[in-house]
Amino acid sequence: MCGIVGILDAGEVSFSLYYALYALQHRGQESAGIATFDGATINKYRGEGLVAEVFDTPTLGRLKGHCGVGHVRYPTTGTNRPENMQPFLFEFQDLHIAIAHNGNLVNYTELREEYEQRGQIFWSSSDTEVIAKVFTDEIRGGSSVEDAVHLCMRRLRGSYSVVMIINGVLYSFRDPLGIKPLCIGKTRTGYIIASESVAVDALGGTLVRDVRPGELMRVSEEGIACTQIAVANCPAHCIFEYIYFSRADAVVDGALVYDVRRKIGRKLYEEAPVNADSVAPVPDSGTAYTIGYAEGSGIPFVECLMKNRYMGRTFIMPNQKAREQAVRIKLNPVRSHLEGKSIVLVDDSIVRGTTSRRIIELMRSSGAREIHMRIGSPAIKAPCYLGVDMPTREELIASNKAENEVRKSITATTLHHISIEALVEAIGMPHGHLCTGCLTGCYPVQIEGEIDTPRAVNFVDGSFQTNLGTFVEEEDL
Ligand code: AMP
Repeated sequence: MCGIVGILDAGEVSFSLYYALYALQHRGQESAGIATFDGATINKYRGEGLVAEVFDTPTLGRLKGHCGVGHVRYPTTGTNRPENMQPFLFEFQDLHIAIAHNGNLVNYTELREEYEQRGQIFWSSSDTEVIAKVFTDEIRGGSSVEDAVHLCMRRLRGSYSVVMIINGVLYSFRDPLGIKPLCIGKTRTGYIIASESVAVDALGGTLVRDVRPGELMRVSEEGIACTQIAVANCPAHCIFEYIYFSRADAVVDGALVYDVRRKIGRKLYEEAPVNADSVAPVPDSGTAYTIGYAEGSGIPFVECLMKNRYMGRTFIMPNQKAREQAVRIKLNPVRSHLEGKSIVLVDDSIVRGTTSRRIIELMRSSGAREIHMRIGSPAIKAPCYLGVDMPTREELIASNKAENEVRKSITATTLHHISIEALVEAIGMPHGHLCTGCLTGCYPVQIEGEIDTPRAVNFVDGSFQTNLGTFVEEEDL
């Protein structure tokens, strides 16, 4: 979980990077950073907090350059330390490098030990630094960027979508399984590569396509070059991007997330119909699912909980009483929509079960008679090692409980999770092209102590390049 963006443009890029990061804010709220290349050196600014808290106009004005990368961080590997804020910067002879990464390496520790033994010094506890070390070590040895990325794809195990500037050139690459999303878009005078298409939309650009799993893209003033460094027998796109993580208005690997969730909502009704007075979302994560359920069932969509959208991370909660009050301030039950009513309540997922239990309690205390919980994901049974912040098996409510036990624990009248088959059908790609580790406990990469179905990855030399002196048209990509 993190958001990344890289932009190359005819004009200055710092404000565009800022707007793009703003659009990706849901992917990480812990820190934000931007690095730009001004023709001579890299300028950077990073800080803790939300994009709007970190940057102001004078700061963005100082980040000069036509090319840059940005990052919003949600920590998975590496603790909440200032030195883990991205982008990371490296200089070597006349090369100025800035790198931003979304994903999680499962062989971080062994790679770090190996590179430490080779004399490398690490200054952060982030796996991004390991990626950077593997890459820069190879570059220092005289290899080309293509060869260095080739080595990265051979050595790194896990998920990595990366954007990087080296002097005035923007590069990006995505792990051969395409676990985390990454797409390229065209703006009026340049190109943007970002975690989600919503960042392209924020700049008024056009989505060109997803960066392919195992692909390296090079974007410069001369044009775009796409090199397929590695090809897997099948990808493993993170299923949780569709369930919860990506914004509903994002197009991820060809599917509009909103439509996927709406289809799931319809299928939830087909799998678990119920007679009720109304169907209501847990705002905002349950909204698109709820619309699908309402369409499928004909039961009216009625909001029963209103979310306060202005409650930031800085809300003061010194004690338990204040924490309880915070729930009420964050979500206000609409009493007249609840009193004496039977409600279908729809949300995207149940992780620990705390949220659902609290919300059901709140709805009952406001008079709801029956609460039929419908969930847009199958039961989450196992942790994620590949970049989504999921707790351990002990903390996951469904890891060792049957659905009826979970129902009792969250005090719902009835409970139904969507089946994996229906979820996969709604996404519209083969089951084998998705990472379903958190649902099945079976992962697409080798993880110690876990079951895996490793993909075969072929490294190929064939590449094509467009070097037209101007940006290429999307048909050529
Ligand atoms: P809980 O069951 O209390 O752990 O919370 C589950 C709710 O948190 C879901 O309804 C989601 O909307 C949201 N959620 C799911 N996965 C995550 C995650 N990895 N990080 C933060 N929130 C999440």
